[in-house]
Amino acid sequence: MVTGRELGKTRLPLWAAGFVVLICVAILGLSVWREWEARNAELRNAEVDVANVAHSLIQHADDTFELADTILVGLAHRLDLDGMGPDTIAKLQAYLPTRKSSDRIRGIFVYDETGRWLATTEQIDFSKLNNSDREYFQRHRNSPDRSTLIGRPVRSRAGGQWIITASRRVNHPDGSFAGVALLTIDVDYFVKFFERFDVGSNGSASLLNNDGIMLARSRDESGAFIGRDLSNAPLFRQWESRPAAAVYYFKSPLDNVQRLSYYQRSSRYPLMVLASKSQDEVLAPWQRAAAVRVAVVLGLVLLIAMIGFYLVRQLSQRQRMAQALVANEAHFRLLAEQSSDMVTRIGLDDRLLYVSPSCLRMIGWSPDELVGKSAVAGIHTEDIERVEQAVAALKNGEAEEARFVYRQRHREKGDIWVEAALHVTRASDSGEIDGVVAVVRDMTEQKDLQDKLTSLAAADGLTGLANRRAFDERLADEWARARRDGTQLSLLLIDVDHFKTFNDHYGHLAGDGCLRALGRILSAHARRPADLAARYGGEEFAMLLPNTVADGCAELGEEIREALRELAMLHAQNLPSRLVTVSVGAATSLPSQTTTDCSALVAAADRALYAAKDGGRDRLVMSGQVVPWPAKRA
Ligand code: GH3
Ligand code: MG
Ligand code: MG
Repeated sequence: MVTGRELGKTRLPLWAAGFVVLICVAILGLSVWREWEARNAELRNAEVDVANVAHSLIQHADDTFELADTILVGLAHRLDLDGMGPDTIAKLQAYLPTRKSSDRIRGIFVYDETGRWLATTEQIDFSKLNNSDREYFQRHRNSPDRSTLIGRPVRSRAGGQWIITASRRVNHPDGSFAGVALLTIDVDYFVKFFERFDVGSNGSASLLNNDGIMLARSRDESGAFIGRDLSNAPLFRQWESRPAAAVYYFKSPLDNVQRLSYYQRSSRYPLMVLASKSQDEVLAPWQRAAAVRVAVVLGLVLLIAMIGFYLVRQLSQRQRMAQALVANEAHFRLLAEQSSDMVTRIGLDDRLLYVSPSCLRMIGWSPDELVGKSAVAGIHTEDIERVEQAVAALKNGEAEEARFVYRQRHREKGDIWVEAALHVTRASDSGEIDGVVAVVRDMTEQKDLQDKLTSLAAADGLTGLANRRAFDERLADEWARARRDGTQLSLLLIDVDHFKTFNDHYGHLAGDGCLRALGRILSAHARRPADLAARYGGEEFAMLLPNTVADGCAELGEEIREALRELAMLHAQNLPSRLVTVSVGAATSLPSQTTTDCSALVAAADRALYAAKDGGRDRLVMSGQVVPWPAKRA
């Protein structure tokens, strides 16, 4: 059995609350994890996008500079062989435009060792122009290196637009510096190509040289970025240790936008490209979708938390109620089981549902033997109908409670008197009557005492006959019964003759003994169950004889006188017999034929008694009102 203590100790609500919290945390955790994964997937997709863009850009840049390189190599070789004489230059001026075959190449130039323009594809007057101030010119002049040099972007002296230069040193036959062959590419050419790729409104595609100089950048209408030196940017730190191509996250020093990018270095030229997207832009669609999803999940978690909180509260309330119930049950069980009364619960089928242990002491059966048995088993046959009626009335709702006394058979001791207090019980939910509770108390001792008291109250102390009060009650009852039944009712009034002198002569105690002896005679002559011998008062007795006619009554009176005479108690002053004698007044009535009450019968008997005294005592006189009675012995 679960006791209140054990129930109180259960941590079920705590576990349930923990479970709800766990579920909420798990859902939130899963959601956050899933969103993080989705975010990373978006970034990886974007990385693949920018890597693809970077591959295309570097390919394009390589192709472009390869073409430029090829032209420059051919041009420088020719100048090396032919020298820079006027003939050669004149031929060159005619030849150069044929080399400028595509829109990639903006212009081709040849400068002599002083920087003076010798030939160009540009249609301008260049007789006064000198490019000895240009960085590439000075580098070629100062270095014997014959490889192609890709220079910083500069503004074209010919057209004013931004250009990138590729140049090569030209030598005299003795190996000394003879001039520079130069080829320019419009920055705009790259920019236009870059803008074919969709890298978002905040993305960019850039071409840089390995020194960190920006050669071309998409979305640079004002040219603000061209030529910028980014060698101090983080990307160019530890430049040598970096792989040739990689994903790279950075905050752009140019526009302060956080970017994810892919850079790739050219394998052939000191160039690199950088394709980047704005991280915010990449993540924007995910952010919008994630906000909706997170809102839904938060709503769900809130709902679970609220329902969980409600359920946990219900659970703990129920637990408290269950504890209270168990405690109550324990109290009531204790009351029922410790009570000396037998407490039973009777179902609607009249079977015992519960019997308290005191039944063993009270009726000799154990609870186990009684539960399931009929509630009226063992009740005295004379009482059973009454009990069944009372229980039925309770079950029908005619009464809420009942209290009665009946006889119940004890297993060994026979019938005992019990008092039962019954009360209906109702189902706690529907309020319908669902049984009866009976508290049964052993009344045997009380009953005996009561019977004793009742008989004591009705008995005369000296003679043991009925007293005057009992006689009066009985007289009224028998009068009513005789009236009902149409039977005759007779009465004898018996008075000891000269009893005062008996007392005076023999003493009061002897007088009492005499009265007791007379009492015994009277009770011996009350032969029929309904006959009643009573002490009417003092030395006066009465004999009530229901259903007795006058003859019978007189006969009995004479028998009593005869019995007394046979006893022959000495009474010296009672002449002539000198024995104790009585005078008897007798009366018989047919109550059904009179309108008077029982006092008329007593009065008639009393008158007859006086008549007997007057007539000389020791005789019986029948009341003349009913039956004239000739004295037997005059
Ligand atoms: P009578 O023949 O006319 O009846 O004469 P009596 O002496 O019997 O007259 P009375 O009825 O006046 O006297 C009754 C006497 O009975 C008076 C009283 O002393 C006596 N007596 C009444 N009750 C008791 C009793 O309980 N014990 C004794 N010893 N005497 C009693
Ligand atoms: Mg008297
Ligand atoms: Mg008397």
